[in-house]
Amino acid sequence: MRELVKRVAEELVSSDHAVALTGAGISTESGIPDFRGPRGLWKKYDPRLFTYSNFVRDPGGFWRLWLEVRREAFLADATPNPGHAALAKLEQMGILKCIITQNVDGLHQKAGSQNVIEFHGNLRYAKCLSCGTRVSIEAAEEAALRGELPPRCGCGGVLKPDAVFFEEQIPQEALRAALEHALVCDLMLVVGTSAVVYPAALLPRVAKERSTGFLWMMGVVSKPRDKPAKVVEVNLEPTPLTDSVADYTILGRAGEMLPKIVEEVERIVGSRRGS
Ligand SMILES: [Zn+2]
Repeated sequence: MRELVKRVAEELVSSDHAVALTGAGISTESGIPDFRGPRGLWKKYDPRLFTYSNFVRDPGGFWRLWLEVRREAFLADATPNPGHAALAKLEQMGILKCIITQNVDGLHQKAGSQNVIEFHGNLRYAKCLSCGTRVSIEAAEEAALRGELPPRCGCGGVLKPDAVFFEEQIPQEALRAALEHALVCDLMLVVGTSAVVYPAALLPRVAKERSTGFLWMMGVVSKPRDKPAKVVEVNLEPTPLTDSVADYTILGRAGEMLPKIVEEVERIVGSRRGS
């Protein structure tokens, strides 16, 4: 394992455009249950309640339900763990160029990461369906608690938690930006995700195969690098990427393994400076 961590650290140091793709696995250590997992929200609540059409049909009813759900879903008290901190550190060092995340908890930003692409929105905010203004989720929740159902924007529009609901499209700008990074990165760190769900599933493969295929349809214009990117996976268990796509697979908790990798990166960078 030590040897593996060392090799990955060397790959990171010699990369010039490393990106990270993160999923639920990095946030479970902050006490946020994987929505799809055994303790997840979808075991207790019917996912159909969280469709866009259900929200629009009865936004007041949705917010009443939300006040109950938010307690189970974590959010308010969750804090970043050493895995989030390690990725923020890699960005500060100029090694990691961006984080592409499937999570809606905002913990990467809370840990200090600046360049974060959110595929599924961010549950720390609510957004006006009419004018697009964002307010903090707490402000919307307080209004709902006062009986304002649904809570509304200053313009009169209905506020909706700013995560992508079922039936809703992935924000196109986020998708385009993520694909651009996948085409030009030379290292992709895949953390806490089995990358089986679209569009996350696409990214390590685009990085590896440089397949531009249909990407032009999405407005992706970057010219891919000639060489395939190195794909490094950090996950509790093997995934479909392990045999086919990943160059390195580190099995373990993100909160334990990422700090080890960063420690090694710092050692290498320090010794090069010294020599
Ligand atoms: Zn508005």
